[in-house]
Amino acid sequence: MDYIVFDLEWNQSDTGREVKEIPFEIIEIGAVKLNEEFRMKGKFHRLIKPEIYKELHYITRSLIHIKMEELVNEKSFPEVMEEFLDWCGDDYIFCTWGPIDLTELQRNMRFYQMPALSGGPIKFYDVQKLFSIGFEDRKTRRALEHAVDVLGIEKDIPFHRAFSDAYYTAKVLSRIEGPVLHNYSFDVFTTPKTKNDEVKAVFDNYMKYISREFNDKSEALSDREVVSMKCYLCRKNVKCKIGWFSANGKHYYGAGYCDIHGYIKAKIRMRKSENKKVYVVKTLKFISEEDFNVLDEKRTKLKP
Ligand SMILES: [Zn+2]
Repeated sequence: MDYIVFDLEWNQSDTGREVKEIPFEIIEIGAVKLNEEFRMKGKFHRLIKPEIYKELHYITRSLIHIKMEELVNEKSFPEVMEEFLDWCGDDYIFCTWGPIDLTELQRNMRFYQMPALSGGPIKFYDVQKLFSIGFEDRKTRRALEHAVDVLGIEKDIPFHRAFSDAYYTAKVLSRIEGPVLHNYSFDVFTTPKTKNDEVKAVFDNYMKYISREFNDKSEALSDREVVSMKCYLCRKNVKCKIGWFSANGKHYYGAGYCDIHGYIKAKIRMRKSENKKVYVVKTLKFISEEDFNVLDEKRTKLKP
């Protein structure tokens, strides 16, 4: 399997009149292909002729130093995208700095009515997250240049162009240790449509479940799988210790106890899908008795 590390540059409306379906119009794709040993085996770089926003927004102009004259003779997005997918091959995983590029890539594809990349969530590597897990505190998200500095990677080409940012992201990725690579991400531009497409992924210290779509929150919260609390190690239901509660109607918390593995904390996040329905991201995580007590107090304060 190859690693396709890509980066996009996009333009947006400079008049405030944006086209809702495509707020960010992609004008450049840069990518690096790495083999399983993280050695570079290919490069891809194309500029794209804009069809929607024909003036460059000042941020685009000042950040990436592209002039419109450089773009007008290029190919349109659908043509470049087809070339890009051909270049990617058949067996690859996408890797990007942060989670946004893969979503915007699909939004541009949908605008041009191109076939979807996938029928459900796409597994990918968010290298910004992997860097935080591998080298910092797991939570902070840093700029690419910061990671390049921390790892002492040579800065031999300028930043903020699609190809160079893909190139540096690939260099950072090649420094991530094997076990950290278990922390892949899911892009949910396309949510699971059926029970079979739902995602259940076990990571080193938690489990993630991404549900299919529901019409609304109450339908989601009456689904047995959504509200179940299972120990993801023994795959059995746990004893419910704290029933689901919410302070804001978006995030729900609960907790259970597995006789073998101890306290488990469950969190449900209600998410809006691209087509205005809802889906659920549930995480299950083992916690200490202390953390359990903190959660219990939080619940008691809400429902005295
Ligand atoms: Zn268990």
